[in-house]
Amino acid sequence: MLENKNPQRTSISQLGEFGLIEHLTKNFEIRQPSTLKGIGDDAAVIDFKDKKAVVSTDLLIEGIHFDLAYMPLKHLGYKAVVVNLSDICAMNAKPTQITVSIAISNRFPLEAVEELYAGIALAANEYKVDVIGGDTTSSQTGLFISITALGEADESEIVYRNGAKANDLLVVSGDLGAAYMGLQVLEREKQVFLVNPQSQPDLDAYTYLIERQLKPEARTDVRTLLHALEIKPTSMIDVSDGLSSEILHLCKQSGVGCNLFEEKLPIDPQFINTCEEFNIDATTVAINGGEDYELLFTIGLDDFDKIKANPNFTVIGHMVDEKEGAHLITRANTKIALKARGWNALEE
Ligand code: ADP
Ligand code: MG
Repeated sequence: MLENKNPQRTSISQLGEFGLIEHLTKNFEIRQPSTLKGIGDDAAVIDFKDKKAVVSTDLLIEGIHFDLAYMPLKHLGYKAVVVNLSDICAMNAKPTQITVSIAISNRFPLEAVEELYAGIALAANEYKVDVIGGDTTSSQTGLFISITALGEADESEIVYRNGAKANDLLVVSGDLGAAYMGLQVLEREKQVFLVNPQSQPDLDAYTYLIERQLKPEARTDVRTLLHALEIKPTSMIDVSDGLSSEILHLCKQSGVGCNLFEEKLPIDPQFINTCEEFNIDATTVAINGGEDYELLFTIGLDDFDKIKANPNFTVIGHMVDEKEGAHLITRANTKIALKARGWNALEE
């Protein structure tokens, strides 16, 4: 009866490692025809037939990649899956399976791990990927999550970072910078809360920004959209560290330069308002902010007509000869060299 007094905190040790794994994974369904064996054996078995397999992995560490003070565990689980699926999308492949490995400290009750898994299950369901395995262990210093995503694609569909040519157009899906400003809003609220725990935050003006930070989505639709438009990008990457840094990756690997136009950057009105409120330059955030999980790609000039009126995509620049370098062309028509600052640089 004592345990029932606080039903929100069941100790994980009551279940043991195998009981915990069984408890967390028993409801995962297998949907992909390529999954021959999922959870429950020494290894999963996958058959991609005549397709190529695409694999990507990420490690997320509490205090480095996320802060549980404003990241609900369910959102963390969802986001951990999404950021990996985004990498598969950036290869122009279709995500099909994930594995999930966690290290949990004993300060986490079972209910916390259940929340994390509810987010993982939600994302797996949303994106129709199978959870086919993982590993579970304990940690003395907070929560670790490592997710590996697998995907499939025809060899001819796969898009690498290294195929951009001079004169190709630079295109991005969605809009930029909102996730970073969402983080700024949440950090401000955390500080307010620390001073006055009674305060009730009014976040109505920031819903889009917070959603972009706490519940990002992977652009699995872009592969389908491009396929319908009969466009194969010449190079592609996802925007995780910030536009500038991703552009430089494409440039370096493709041996080209780039002109990026400030006036073309796709940004949301809520983002602009919040940048004004925080007295932060919107362009700086849009190009360095990171965590947008949009797709950045190059296409041949010939494909411009196919994409120009499409609301999902914005042409933001074009590639140039490598010797010209990579620059932002401002509204005032000045040229500023792009730097790979990543989003941490904004905190300086
Ligand atoms: P092993 O001792 O071979 O590593 P485990 O007992 O760790 O096996 O895992 C048993 C099964 O449960 C395996 O299929 C493994 O992939 C899966 N599994 C373990 N931990 C997790 C987890 N956190 N999430 C999803 N599947 C898991
Ligand atoms: Mg194991």
